[in-house]
Parts: sequence; C-alpha cells; structure tokens
Amino acid sequence: METRWYKEREAVAEASREMARKGLVSGSSGNVSMRVGERLLAITPSRKRYDQLAAEQIQVIDFDGEPVLGDQVPSVESLMHIAAYQKRADVNAVVHTHSLYASVLAVTHLELPPLIDEMVTSIGGEVRVTQYAFPSTEDLAHNAASALRDRNAAILANHGVVGVGVDLHEALAVCELVERASKVFVFAKLIGKVHLLPEEIIATEKELFTMMRSPKTS
Ligand SMILES: [Zn+2]
Repeated sequence: METRWYKEREAVAEASREMARKGLVSGSSGNVSMRVGERLLAITPSRKRYDQLAAEQIQVIDFDGEPVLGDQVPSVESLMHIAAYQKRADVNAVVHTHSLYASVLAVTHLELPPLIDEMVTSIGGEVRVTQYAFPSTEDLAHNAASALRDRNAAILANHGVVGVGVDLHEALAVCELVERASKVFVFAKLIGKVHLLPEEIIATEKELFTMMRSPKTS
C-alpha cells in the first residue's frame, strides 16, 4: 500500500464522508481537497460516491494539475482548488458543495448578505455570487478565486458553493454555515423584510476576521 501522505488522504476522505453525511452534496457532486507541502494538494477523485470514499482513492496532484500519486481521475474542479490555494496563502483546505438553499441563491444570483454574526467572523462578510462559468474551466477557477480574495466562501452562479479554511474542519464548517444562512435568508425573504446586522457591528466583526487571519508576528 502507498503510504505517502496517507494521513492527509485519510483526512480528505473523512471530510468527504462527513460532507455527504451532512447532506451538502448528493452522489458524486462536490469535491474536497487539502494542501500538502508547497505546491501539492490531496483531492477527491472524479465520479465516486462520497459516502464510502477511502484514503486510497484520494489523489495527490501538483499546482499544474499533474498527477503525483493515485490511479484515479482527480476531481474535474481541480483548477478551482489550485486557484484558491494560489490566491490565498492562509488557506489549507477547500470544500465545494451543491447544497440546496445556497443553490437557490446561485440561480437567483442573489448574494448572501451578512445576516448573522458568524457570517462576518467566519466568512468575512457577505458571500458573493461569481459570474457564471462552465464547470471545470479556467474561467470558473478564476471567478471563484477572485470572489474568495477576502472571504472564506463564494457562491458559484448556477452551480454551488466553495468554502475555504485553515484546515478541513474550518472549510467544511464554512460550507455548512453558508447553507444554514442561505436557508434563513430564503425563508426570511418569503415572510417579510430582511434586517441585516447593524453596520458598526459588521465593521467590528470584519476587523476581527482580518486580525485572526493576518500572519502571526512574534
Ligand atoms: Zn460542482
């Protein structure tokens, strides 16, 4: 058995199974990756069910998309994962889901405003909707990375969600939060006026978000 990056590949497999358990994807939609070393990532394979994914099926590729380890086809959204790592040096994990309520915003092209405190402290503020691009393309990767420049999540137009974090736990939690807040937003819009957080609170929480992500100096 190939033992290189086994711990990392097992962590990606476990996060994928959790993503499926939480109902954030169905079948083989969505994908998960983590950074391994300088210019490599461990990423889920294409067209495999997530609820039974094993470490052996996780692929390691480099930032040019070239295979380094594994005999499966890496996720078709590899370019988006790579673009996120290249855009954000603080990001070590990327999770992409097709969750239901966020998909409602993806097709209405409504950005998710800062409704609840965690959206600002964990994501950095509103979740932007990217311009539409065909799945798996350079354009989609570019649009996603641009929307993620100072946010931990983005909604991909007519497609789904991408969440990032310092680790897999955070990236997955971000995707869950986007889904919960999207659901709140959709229902709130159906029954009445949506009140956002007070502006001064958003400003303070944004500072907190930035502070927690700036490189540590000692
Ligand atoms: Zn997708």
